Amino acid sequence: MSGRLYVVGLGPGAASMRTPEAEAVLAAADDLVGYGPYVARAPERAGQVRHVSDNREELDRARHALVLAAAGRTVAVCSGGDAGVFAMAAAVFEAVDHGDPAWRALEIEVVAGVSAMFAAAARLGAPLGGDFCAISLSDNLKPWELVVKRLRAAAEAGFAIALYNPLSKARPWQLGAAFEALREVLPCSTPVAFAAAISRPDEAIRVAELGVADPAWADMRTLVLIGAATTRSIERPDGRPWLYTPRSVAEDA
Ligand code: SAH
Repeated sequence: MSGRLYVVGLGPGAASMRTPEAEAVLAAADDLVGYGPYVARAPERAGQVRHVSDNREELDRARHALVLAAAGRTVAVCSGGDAGVFAMAAAVFEAVDHGDPAWRALEIEVVAGVSAMFAAAARLGAPLGGDFCAISLSDNLKPWELVVKRLRAAAEAGFAIALYNPLSKARPWQLGAAFEALREVLPCSTPVAFAAAISRPDEAIRVAELGVADPAWADMRTLVLIGAATTRSIERPDGRPWLYTPRSVAEDA
């Protein structure tokens, strides 16, 4: 009997933001594999085995899931948001690429989820309405110099930027350094949004200008969104503006 491996994005947090397809996969799996808080989001099911591991052990976790699937089990590897965005789907394919050739014959399916940038953008208005990019500030897997190079290039090219993994206890200074680099390229008036724990009970949103944006307003649950030069802010009576990036850009922008 051959097994199956699903790599599932569970969305930003709330069950209402999980797709029906993700729900179906979670319900059908013999085994759930993933970082503890993500696996904990899946509804309990009798007979299902949960393999919980630390956040940093992605490749080991991917190999473990592949071994289970190769033994005939139906396995769901759980990620937050979308599994393809700074998450487990790439780790699974890295493991397949460099691992047991028999793994290439396995049924593997990636199930899309609502990524944090889309959940955050929807709360804010339409800041990703023009061209945009996503950058992870984590330098666990790439040198910090490359992160800064990409940030500057993206800002210079006029992209709105969704910043994932803005900081953590092990990386307290990156977001401040990123703001410094961006201030050299973008006007101080560029809107910056801090969208924390979107769709969870502790959701919090703050919008400021780049000139005064304070890295202390972010933590590891926060998606930081940097506007493009064209991103506009519509003031509202409650003090929280709508942010949107118009679909069209002038030739000289
Ligand atoms: N695969 C995930 C991202 C994993 S990286 C996705 O597609 O969303 C982890 C980072 O995602 C966090 O540091 C934070 O920047 C962001 N993030 C995840 N969930 C979030 C949420 N509910 N609200 C805001 N940001 C979130």
